[in-house]
Amino acid sequence: MNRRRSQGMKVFILFLFCLSLAESKKYTNYHLLKVVPQTDTGLAQLKSLDKNNPQEVDFWIAPSKVNQSAECLMSPTLYHEIENGAKNKGIEVTVLSDNIEKTIEKEKPNSVLYSEKAVTNTYAPIEKIVELIKGYAEQYSHVSLKHYGKSYEHRNLYAIKFSVGPGRQTIIVEAGMHSREWIAIASTLKVIESFATRRNVNREVTELLESYDWLFVPVTNPDGYHMTHTEDRMWRKNMRPHTRRCTGTDLNRNFDALWGGEGASADPCHPTFRGANVFSEPESRHLSKLVRSTRDKIAFFSVHAYSQLILTPYGCQRKKPADSNHLTYIAKQAKNAIYRETGKNFTVGTPPDILYPATGGAYDWAKMKMKVKYAYAFELRPDPSSSLGFIMPESEIEPSYRELFVALKAFAENFEK
Ligand SMILES: [Zn+2]
Repeated sequence: MNRRRSQGMKVFILFLFCLSLAESKKYTNYHLLKVVPQTDTGLAQLKSLDKNNPQEVDFWIAPSKVNQSAECLMSPTLYHEIENGAKNKGIEVTVLSDNIEKTIEKEKPNSVLYSEKAVTNTYAPIEKIVELIKGYAEQYSHVSLKHYGKSYEHRNLYAIKFSVGPGRQTIIVEAGMHSREWIAIASTLKVIESFATRRNVNREVTELLESYDWLFVPVTNPDGYHMTHTEDRMWRKNMRPHTRRCTGTDLNRNFDALWGGEGASADPCHPTFRGANVFSEPESRHLSKLVRSTRDKIAFFSVHAYSQLILTPYGCQRKKPADSNHLTYIAKQAKNAIYRETGKNFTVGTPPDILYPATGGAYDWAKMKMKVKYAYAFELRPDPSSSLGFIMPESEIEPSYRELFVALKAFAENFEK
């Protein structure tokens, strides 16, 4: 690099540094709490806290049932207000972290180390991810890139396709609909890396590519993901503004699956805002078109974090699909494969049974409206009640990737074609 360019670069880096200092949201003394409602009153109290204070409290795991634990990030102001009263109202509170900003600081990619690490061992910014998958498409004949639309902020939406020849059914995997779930994006990207670079090198990869075509969307919500890297690590929704104060739709509440019902908010300020109508958002609408236009699709997976779950359909209602037992049986094979790989325990079940109901979700839509036979959602590491939540050190990417890889492999091997 010549001297002038290098100086220019320094000024640019300084500019970026100042920009990030000026704009990034701090979570100093924000508390990560495990909250267990012990009575109906306690549960109602938590639900009203969630509904009425979206700026002060952010439920990472929503309250759903008495004696089932939920998790939330709470501002220090609100925490001190409710701290003493909680017990009287039938809520057991455990402080998992009393300053989540510290955890965020520890997780932050170290820019010096960053250049020495492979992109796929880091929480890479969106530009790096795009560069990487473009490179795979150029370099490997079984890889191609699909540009399937633009986000609200005009970022290109990309899917990466693996196909070793015609005549195969397609497995679709999307990640990063919720932008703060970095481990979901990083683990998926590492699966993509394996599929691109290890064909005819690794037997398992080769067999998976011989059995199916695979279509991956590594970052369904690139605007939100950019936001988590630049301004607000905890951003979940897309970036379309709705009111002067509130921005973003929860893309995983915006699909045509009992849209607007339980587990989705009508409040644009809430983290689970469902959007103005079904597919009101470019990111969900374009993804739906991509899925619709994919012929002969056998499976659809959404990759999320966290809680260590394999979610079977439906998330939006208690009624189960006719082939529910078969879908659950296969999910259990994936669960067992994860346990054999890393010893981690994943729970299999429907969201209403093991988590909380949520309408407007992508995998429900795939099953209900696209008639995709196998539709699931993963909630990757860590387990609920870990003090990390969404904020996992980069060292977790490798084991989390292995869990996702062996799970996808177990699914693919057990599908009835
Ligand atoms: Zn999610």
